[in-house]
Amino acid sequence: MKKLSSHAVAVQASTTLAIDSLYKQMKADGVDVIGFGAGEPDFGTPEHIKQAGIRAIQEDFTKYTPASGIPELRKAVCTRLKLDFNLDYKPSEVVIASGAKHVLYVALQTITDPGDEIIIPAPYWVSYVEMVQMVRGTPVVVTATEEEGFKLTPEKLEAAITSRTKALMLNNPSNPTGMVYSREELKALADVCVKHDLYILSDEIYCNLVYDGRTFTSFPTLSPEVKERTILINGVSKSYAMTGWRIGYAAACEDIIKAMGNYLSHSTGSPASFAQKGAVEALVGPQEEIAAMCKAFEERRNHFVERMNAIEGVSCLKPEGAFYIMMNIQKLKGKTLHGVTIQDADDFSSLFLKEGLVATVPCTGFGTGDFVRWSYATSMKNIDEGLNRLEKFLQD
Ligand code: PMP
Ligand code: GLU
Repeated sequence: MKKLSSHAVAVQASTTLAIDSLYKQMKADGVDVIGFGAGEPDFGTPEHIKQAGIRAIQEDFTKYTPASGIPELRKAVCTRLKLDFNLDYKPSEVVIASGAKHVLYVALQTITDPGDEIIIPAPYWVSYVEMVQMVRGTPVVVTATEEEGFKLTPEKLEAAITSRTKALMLNNPSNPTGMVYSREELKALADVCVKHDLYILSDEIYCNLVYDGRTFTSFPTLSPEVKERTILINGVSKSYAMTGWRIGYAAACEDIIKAMGNYLSHSTGSPASFAQKGAVEALVGPQEEIAAMCKAFEERRNHFVERMNAIEGVSCLKPEGAFYIMMNIQKLKGKTLHGVTIQDADDFSSLFLKEGLVATVPCTGFGTGDFVRWSYATSMKNIDEGLNRLEKFLQD
């Protein structure tokens, strides 16, 4: 048989999804493993949203829809953005696709010519670099250290810009670091982007999960010039515990949205019809459950961070949003645990899964080998048991 395309062969499988399926397989095989791998809320989808999806199926809303999403959902996105951030978008400036991951991919397809450089602050979410490569762009990774609070500085951004730079891809609140940029910090980055005429792909999927009374700033609210060049990306997965419904959206100027819609019309046809009805209910129905979930995540985070920082050999910053903890394993590097010398996060995570029966994600795929990501979108009981296992694993 002839070879697969070299382009396809170069794509690496998603580490987060790979760990999640390994964890689920071990669980199905009866192994007593605890999962802190994939970041998805452990809560069920709120009842009123489930009912909207069920109703849509019962009413035979089960056919193709417009490629860019049903008008009702595009309007619901505008309503939400107005209510939450006082942002004005028209439905023609909104496109719906099958999850924010898909939206990001299509947005990149829309703005990237071969060789265009896309700046990605590291640690980054695993799919960013792969996606840029999948659209034949060049990822330019700029590392933000733990000492910098894992946040990109305007100086570092400026230094990474060349004549080929097309966009900055920013995730705020961040997966995997959990850090949240303040309005001033975002403004400083935005000034550099405007100066160099860059697009900003602003992935705001964790916008509702910010803690300690912080206010989240949506990137396009910074100024009209910033809004003009921002592709705002969001979805219902994290805010409404709807990961499997696969609905995400982008808001941007009409030219970009039209190009994305054309691309979608040939690639997916349309997002699932009834899932779109569920998403309408999520966005314009009662919002109380968001606050309840956010409160639960905040309590888990507080407990997690306190316990983790009391364990010898590892440490973490206190995340400000999302539901991830970056465990620093620098002190463990070069040490032998359970007969294996730990060189990096990959060694740690695979040994911890095998010997400690805890699934975590090594941050090697997130641009750093010194950290291991734990998702605390799981019960307090699991968090305690996972940390008990960590203590035992490190002592043995
Ligand atoms: N962006 C980030 C940073 C994420 O962590 C995720 C999680 N899957 C997504 C986008 C995609 O979300 P979804 O495709 O489920 O809407
Ligand atoms: N975004 C989640 C994570 O980082 C879900 C898995 C994925 O889509 O990669 O774990």
